[in-house]
Amino acid sequence: MRPELLYPLFRPIDSLKGVGPRVAPLVQKLAGPHVVDILWLLPHGVIDRRDRPRVTEALPGRIATLVLTVDEHRPPPPGSRAPYRVAASDETGTLTLAFFRANRDYLMKLLPIGERRAVSGRVEVYNDLPQMVHPDYVVPVADLAEIQTVEPVYPLTHGLTARTVQKVARAALDVGLAVAAKAPEWHDPALMARRGWPGWGAALEAAHHPQDEEAVSPQAPARQRLAYDELLATQLALLIVRAKMRGRAGRARAGDGSLRRAALAALPFTLTGAQQRAMEEIAADMARPTRMLRLLQGDVGSGKTVVAWLAMLIALECGGQAALMAPTEILARQHMETLAPLAQAAGIRIALLTGRDKGRARDSTVEALAAGEIRVIVGTHALFQSDVAFQDLGLVVIDEQHRFGVDQRLGLSGKGPDADVLVMTATPIPRTLTLTHYGDMDVSRLDEKPPGRQPIETVLLSAQRLPEVNAAIRRAIGGGAKVYWVCPLVEESETADLAAAESRYEDLRAVFGGRVGLVHGRMKPAEKDSVMERFAGEGVDVLVATTVIEVGVNVPAATVMVIEHAERFGLAQLHQLRGRIGRGGAKSTCLLVYQGPLGEVARERLQVIRNTEDGFVIAEEDLRLRGAGEVLGTRQSGLPQFRLADLEAHADLLAMASDDAKLILNRDPDLESERGRALRVLLYLFERDAAVRTVQSG
Ligand code: ADP
Ligand code: MG
Repeated sequence: MRPELLYPLFRPIDSLKGVGPRVAPLVQKLAGPHVVDILWLLPHGVIDRRDRPRVTEALPGRIATLVLTVDEHRPPPPGSRAPYRVAASDETGTLTLAFFRANRDYLMKLLPIGERRAVSGRVEVYNDLPQMVHPDYVVPVADLAEIQTVEPVYPLTHGLTARTVQKVARAALDVGLAVAAKAPEWHDPALMARRGWPGWGAALEAAHHPQDEEAVSPQAPARQRLAYDELLATQLALLIVRAKMRGRAGRARAGDGSLRRAALAALPFTLTGAQQRAMEEIAADMARPTRMLRLLQGDVGSGKTVVAWLAMLIALECGGQAALMAPTEILARQHMETLAPLAQAAGIRIALLTGRDKGRARDSTVEALAAGEIRVIVGTHALFQSDVAFQDLGLVVIDEQHRFGVDQRLGLSGKGPDADVLVMTATPIPRTLTLTHYGDMDVSRLDEKPPGRQPIETVLLSAQRLPEVNAAIRRAIGGGAKVYWVCPLVEESETADLAAAESRYEDLRAVFGGRVGLVHGRMKPAEKDSVMERFAGEGVDVLVATTVIEVGVNVPAATVMVIEHAERFGLAQLHQLRGRIGRGGAKSTCLLVYQGPLGEVARERLQVIRNTEDGFVIAEEDLRLRGAGEVLGTRQSGLPQFRLADLEAHADLLAMASDDAKLILNRDPDLESERGRALRVLLYLFERDAAVRTVQSG
């Protein structure tokens, strides 16, 4: 259980002062549901209001705080769009305060004629005279000290003002400081001294109240320390889970090769070199008496499924069962379609179990699984349900796509206490990052495509050329091709994005009639599936989709993909989307339609996608370009996120955390020492509860 000490941090955000029903959902969108999420929302800049010039000394373009006497109100003439102006002065000169679409009564109250007020904001020059448009603050002179400070600049979301976020962050920080005052130090004191890092509370305080630009740099000691908290928690959690899976004695599963030989003979192709290597690595792992925990990495279409099938056959050869778990219903069904004929040919009973199975049919599947009659089960997270049991689960294959956490992987393997685990991922991850996301899992890479694939031609087009795209699509569907038309959809602007996708759908229907379909994340699964089925089969030729198709449907006849607003997608995402085409024998084309003008980095990113289809190269370039300063959220790139650590800036800390975690667990595997107990608090702080439970259950 989470230590009581941390309870205040895991209260909902509306428990904070100043977070009412209007603000709460916005803050939640910006940071997350709990107080701790706001604590992790760090400022990315500062506004220094300490400069207090007189009017003639104020420098244009700079933030200044001035004390002025209000001289005159000059409302704009009725119907004019000119701002409401208020002239105010000190002994050196006059400065105009300008307000657009202002309310006169409000301004008369805020700035009564003849009185002195302290104002703060950016000074500009308009018609050769100093002016301040919408001052950030107008307060009585008595409150001058309150505004003449250094202010943190927080990330914002639409509908929240900077001041609201500052207040909420202040309230969260107060909670954090109270907790920190009672929390034990979890880091090695020698390390802290060597790096000059502050304690946790002092680090929070310094990170939320930076006094200059340097203090918001990732290299500031407070930032480093907080990043290290997060990195160490992550590394510890990964190692603990890993040690647990490893430590549980596995079973040696060598198999006699009979099922595999038959399966290979029945395949209409021979394995690529990469598939063969991966197969050998997996077979060797499974033959060892310890548990396999292996990651199979390979681009979409690199042939992971066949490798997984052969691995499952090893488990079957040894008398066990195998499970394949997919992140979505559609994907599970697709895996089933691929595997069912292979299973049938080999006389192996296979079944599908998803959240949609109910009643009698579900009961009989569950029974047959428990009795060992079903040898291979394909499903979604429905496989986790407590009444699902196996006779002897030998191998769990998880088609991950980043939708399952470490905790869940642990969950399914609980269904077979000594089951081997193979995780498949189509998200190529740079070597330097594999460690962070998968701990020290063993990795097999499919870095070679099956032969006979036609390269995909990728073209960059400005949105102004959309009419040409329509003409090209007409030609393509005339020739029997299927077309994906992808519209972006991000959480932050979901409603507007959805509207854009729907209006694109209407446009295309006006041109191509009923052969156009639409799928998006808000549709019911059954509706979505029915559109997808018509796209895979008959009836729909052009599929307008938000990124839901990312999760991996296979429609070999789809040879054209249009991606609108390509500049808004992460590279990994573009790569995965594009992988949906080029799956059949015909030549495929991907049109990346961007909304110009593009910045230098944005252009370079799209060029990377145009120039290569190698997911590993793209992943490395993505990392390099993100390092080049483009702020690309990790959410967009498809990698799991860090809140405090910046993998580029803190690469050295990551390596340190990994070593540190190993050392800690070598000395104190159950985290029982005094420092071990403090580290448990750290794990809970970063919501690695599963890892702590693992340690406790021994
Ligand atoms: P992934 O799961 O990595 O996206 P799949 O396993 O679905 O890739 O394979 C994509 C397609 O390539 C499938 O139609 C599969 O039958 C085919 N395929 C797999 N391996 C080979 C190979 N060695 N030679 C030719 N085709 C292959
Ligand atoms: Mg596949």
